[in-house]
Amino acid sequence: MSEIWDDRRKALEEDYFRRKERETIEKMREQMFVEAEAAAALKCPRDHGLLTRMEHEGIYLDRCPQCKGVWFDAGEMETLTNREQETWVDRFIKSFKD
Ligand SMILES: [Zn+2]
Repeated sequence: MSEIWDDRRKALEEDYFRRKERETIEKMREQMFVEAEAAAALKCPRDHGLLTRMEHEGIYLDRCPQCKGVWFDAGEMETLTNREQETWVDRFIKSFKD
C-alpha cells in the first residue's frame, strides 16, 4: 500500500516540476523575444534613442523621440523632393494657361 502512495507522490512531484520547467521556458522565450525586438530596433546615430516609425505622405520615416531628428532611408528624400517639384511644375504650367 505504501508503495502505491510513494508512486503517486513521485508522479505528482514529477508533474509539478514539469509544469515549473514549462513556465520557466515560456518566461525565457518571452524575455528573448523582448530582447530581440529591442536589438532589432534602429537607434538614433546622434544619441542612440530608439527610433519610431512615422508615416508622411505614404513614406515611412524614422524619428528619434529624444532629439526629434528624422532619418530617411535611401531614396525617401528623393521621392519627397520629386513630389514637391511635380507640384511646383504643375503650378508653373498652370500659370501659362491663365
Ligand atoms: Zn536622437
